[in-house]
Amino acid sequence: MTFHDEVDIDEMDWNDELKALTYQCPCGDLFAITLDELADGEDIARCPSCSLYVVVVYEPEDVKRLTQTLPIHCAAA
Ligand SMILES: [Zn+2]
Repeated sequence: MTFHDEVDIDEMDWNDELKALTYQCPCGDLFAITLDELADGEDIARCPSCSLYVVVVYEPEDVKRLTQTLPIHCAAA
């Protein structure tokens, strides 16, 4: 894997199909990371089509805020 960039969580877009936050990859696909991964402290969003990844910059409060505002399907609900 190759580090591509640091991305603020507010710069990422919610993708309802992937149920993940996404960010445009230079290869044309999307970096993706789920809220579950973020809640676990994961900060690496990988592109499924190439070897690049971005580091997501966020605070725990950001994840809480997004969890409350996004239409996600939480298994624990
Ligand atoms: Zn890519």
